[in-house]
Amino acid sequence: MPDTQSRSLLGLTFQELTNLVVESGQPAYRAQQLFDAVYRQKIDKLEEISTLPREYRARLSEEGWRLGLPAIARQFLSSDGTVRYLMELADGETVETVWMPEGDGGETGDGSDAGVEEESAAGPAGWRRATICVSSQVGCAVNCRFCFTALLGVKRNLTAGEIVGQIAAVLREQQIQPPGQRVNLVFMGMGEPFLNYENFMKSVRLLVEGVGIPESRMTVSTAGIVPRIYDFARETVRPKLAISLNGPNDRLRSEVMPLNRKWNLSELMQAAREFPLRARERLTFEYVLLAGVNDAPEHAREVAELVRGIRAKVNLIALNAGAELPYRTPDDGRVLEFQRILVMAGIPTFIRRPRGRDIFAACGQLKRTVELPPA
Ligand code: SAH
Repeated sequence: MPDTQSRSLLGLTFQELTNLVVESGQPAYRAQQLFDAVYRQKIDKLEEISTLPREYRARLSEEGWRLGLPAIARQFLSSDGTVRYLMELADGETVETVWMPEGDGGETGDGSDAGVEEESAAGPAGWRRATICVSSQVGCAVNCRFCFTALLGVKRNLTAGEIVGQIAAVLREQQIQPPGQRVNLVFMGMGEPFLNYENFMKSVRLLVEGVGIPESRMTVSTAGIVPRIYDFARETVRPKLAISLNGPNDRLRSEVMPLNRKWNLSELMQAAREFPLRARERLTFEYVLLAGVNDAPEHAREVAELVRGIRAKVNLIALNAGAELPYRTPDDGRVLEFQRILVMAGIPTFIRRPRGRDIFAACGQLKRTVELPPA
């Protein structure tokens, strides 16, 4: 008997749905009806798939199949419009997904989408940069010392259906229908996507083919799982790549990201230099600024040296601090000075605005209020 997750229609490819309908003696065109119901219409109850005959719906249900949209267990609305959703999965585990109606502050202004955003006629202004931040695992195994998710450890990988399901549930809730209405995706929620590589890549293909979000509007962020960066470089359909740099040299990077002892900066930057970029594409380096640790002008100059020669941009993120973390947030002057040095070195550098800070939806803060007792 397959486990409950394997009985979710959400997560099956068109081919897998075709096998399913044909094995039940149904005509093959039912696969398209199911594919549309799951990914385009985002229906959450079998009875509501009106294109299918009643008997076939009943049979699917008897066989234990369900649509598989995660339930929105809780939601928190920020004063800046950000919404943090707590998604409940079939086994009761929860992950978080964040809706940012005006983007995450890191996806625009770099010239790589020049003109496109401004010309969008997709709807009210707020939709043009709308971004969904998606989780890839329950918890995380990478032990970054400035990250709240790291405090949880890793419970399990998400299935492809659970990754797509987060996006489907948010689009349904926000009543956004791609591709006519645009949305950006960032795989920057809980977890390390490159430690759940196959499911992550399967979710990308389902999002492109089923939900209708082009891969050019997606960005995946990795802590630096170097072998997977090489695998990712060979994918024909893939999101843009962001690498969490966070340290300007091996000593500091190993201190804040112990993972650097496994894949050090020279290996990471080698993979970055070899990464095949498409026309007008840039690699993104993310850099979390920790007061008095990695935010000095000399560190900015080291970062400039590392990134030199790569068609890249840098996104600076001032730490979202918390009592559980051993670091503090640098003041604005320090962040601006760091940016200025990189810009003067010819590297496009942006400061990512914190989104939804009042609801703990900002970078690295997911699950804080749910998992941890109140301060
Ligand atoms: N595991 C992936 C994606 C999730 S983290 C990765 O490491 O890239 C997404 C981004 O949030 C990373 O750039 C990470 O460095 C940053 N981040 C994590 N905790 C943070 C915090 N407390 N404050 C600011 N940024 C944080």
